[in-house]
Amino acid sequence: MELIQNFINGEFASPQDGKYLDGFNPATGKVYSRVPDSRDVDVAMAVVAAKKAFPAWSKKTAEERAEYLYKIADLIDRDREKLALAESIDQGKPLSLARELDIPRASKNFRFFAGAILHTQEMSTTQGDTSLNYVLRQPVGVAGLIPPWNLPLYLLTWKIAPALAAGNTVVCKPSEFTSMTAFLLCSLIKEAGLPSGVCNIVFGTGEKAGAVLVDHPAVPLISFTGGTATGEKIYRASAANFKKISLELGGKNPNIIYDDADLSKAVPGTIRSSFLNQGEICVCGSRIFVQEGIYEKFLSEFKAETEKLIVGNPLDEKTFMGPLVSSSHLDKVMSSIEQARNEGAKIIFGGDRPKNLSNEFKDGYFLNPTIITELDRCSEIMQREIFGPVVTVTPFKYMKDVVEWANNVPYGLTATVWTTNLDRAHKTAAKLEVGTVWVNTWLKRDLRLPFGGMKASGIGREGGEFSLEFFTEAKTVTIGL
Ligand code: NDP
Repeated sequence: MELIQNFINGEFASPQDGKYLDGFNPATGKVYSRVPDSRDVDVAMAVVAAKKAFPAWSKKTAEERAEYLYKIADLIDRDREKLALAESIDQGKPLSLARELDIPRASKNFRFFAGAILHTQEMSTTQGDTSLNYVLRQPVGVAGLIPPWNLPLYLLTWKIAPALAAGNTVVCKPSEFTSMTAFLLCSLIKEAGLPSGVCNIVFGTGEKAGAVLVDHPAVPLISFTGGTATGEKIYRASAANFKKISLELGGKNPNIIYDDADLSKAVPGTIRSSFLNQGEICVCGSRIFVQEGIYEKFLSEFKAETEKLIVGNPLDEKTFMGPLVSSSHLDKVMSSIEQARNEGAKIIFGGDRPKNLSNEFKDGYFLNPTIITELDRCSEIMQREIFGPVVTVTPFKYMKDVVEWANNVPYGLTATVWTTNLDRAHKTAAKLEVGTVWVNTWLKRDLRLPFGGMKASGIGREGGEFSLEFFTEAKTVTIGL
């Protein structure tokens, strides 16, 4: 049994009242770890440590801070295999994906922001007839960081790296479902010699630990990635203290395939955007719209490729989809499929659990990739995020219709467009109400560019200078001449 501990003021610590939660291996459904069930007193201790560490950390030069971040990045790379294995066992994602995507991106996050603070010109100045003005960018203080369970280390480090780079100290609360790689990161942070209290990680539930962090008066900034309903709660709670807030929330992302699309790219691209990480990525394209002329051809090719996907042991190199993250999430996704069925939709593939799993995995939270057609566009299933390997496919005739349908959801995170017509690509991209549009590709990210959502998909943008701006306060200084 793996025992996870909080990391407060540079030391590992049990939760104050000694309570732990069960950590499950989603592939077997068995308990394999104990996760601290931290509460207010644990969070308070972490905030005190972060507050105490803030003056010295914020006074360090950019070069000094960058050096620590580069060290942490190197240590993540050194332990890549160990971290990838831990992420796969804890979250359910295929080991190959953790190895290729999650862990390399975690070290890249640290390296990227270390480089960014060395190469960003932080100060703007203006000169008038009677004054000289300049803007100081100063760290905010103790940053509260709350990531989700789908890309645990990837999204945790996407917050820690810019927060520390900008001179803040941090208290993080990872998801109770996926605490393992955050725990392993604590050892690397210690090994890198990061001063005590600069980065604190408290494990536990959103209700008992996350909400306390959000409410804490000594935490002036919250960066949250997670579901829209939780985001709304956090937004309301933060209002009481006028906190700086960044919310990266859910999506119901359209994937638009025009009849001039190159299907040799659009079909494999759509397989990935539908089912990668079991469809548990906020940017997955769960609503596929296909232009009438190629609808049947696309559907038959897409279905044929979906049939080939291997669902099973995440540690097996051939596996494309592991289990969903938890049994409660599996139940939620299955009930959405049931609802679609009851509304008269056709499940043309999947909709059930794999039958050929060995005994070891029979209690795991596996679900087959699922393709739904003939669902009414106004159905709740077409409006609400499912966050699993479930897509709907709908034909369309005109650009104006598909753009209207694509926008007609509460969310506005990302969209994907497949076309060989440049004019269509530009016109569609301009009209979509989302934070990111991918054309003839998916999931490519230039970390210098803004990422975030419109509408119920969130508030604010993170990435490059957008993150550094969020994690600092601008102060204008005017000197009379
Ligand atoms: P949740 O909203 O359930 O939880 C996210 C985090 O918030 C977890 O650490 C959770 O802890 C914590 N939390 C829950 N309640 C509270 C609270 N009241 N106060 C403070 N913290 C709280 O999201 P999931 O973990 O289920 O992640 C899936 C969601 O994340 C999907 O909707 C997905 O679209 C979204 N997401 C968005 C991304 C984006 O960039 N826009 C990227 C990735 C995911 P615990 O789990 O321990 O309860």
